[in-house]
Amino acid sequence: MKWSFKLGEIAGIGIYVHATFLLLLGWVALSYYIAGQSIAMIVNGVAFLLALFGIVVLHELGHALTAKRFGIQTRDITLLPIGGVARLERMPDDPKQELWVALAGPAVNVVLAAVLYIAIGLTSGPPSLSNLSMVSGDFWEKLLWVNVSLAAFNLLPAFPMDGGRVLRALLAMRMDYVRATQIAAHVGQGMALLFGFIGLFYNPFLVFIALFVWMGASQEASMVQMKAALG
Ligand code: ZN
Repeated sequence: MKWSFKLGEIAGIGIYVHATFLLLLGWVALSYYIAGQSIAMIVNGVAFLLALFGIVVLHELGHALTAKRFGIQTRDITLLPIGGVARLERMPDDPKQELWVALAGPAVNVVLAAVLYIAIGLTSGPPSLSNLSMVSGDFWEKLLWVNVSLAAFNLLPAFPMDGGRVLRALLAMRMDYVRATQIAAHVGQGMALLFGFIGLFYNPFLVFIALFVWMGASQEASMVQMKAALG
């Protein structure tokens, strides 16, 4: 991907960060600085960001390592503001395999959330997710919340989220792959419009996410259409 910088390599897969991810970094750093204006607060913010990085990478490795079981290699993993992208050598042809590969990412977050829930429950009583914000609240409870939201967000039935692939895989078991992609892409673009509209009134960050979702949906649709035309 253009405008990406390499961070390292895990299991032979290059881990990259996209330049737009810096916007998110800046936003978190600024929020922590405004909230605390102390070294401890900034250290806390950096630790939270590193944990966030780790969680996203683990999510993508979930996809990559599941794909590997079906004999598909991963070229690289790139971190974007809305999450990570694992670029597989090819998508599985079998809808059942695509379903497993797509579900493996959110499954990692579900497992991490369950482990955090139990660990917090054992050490300091049942976690409360009600009064958390990005800069305040218990560090581990925030990570629990991050995993729950990542699982939920990624399972939205819209490209380029995993839920879009789950939807296409389920549709493709009953119909032609191109048709299944078109339907899934339309659902994704409908969702992007909804996000954008809600974002205009409540949260500008949502408009930004809507743009990514819209681009991801149309990219997926045109890629599959081109492949079908060539084939
Ligand atoms: Zn994913």
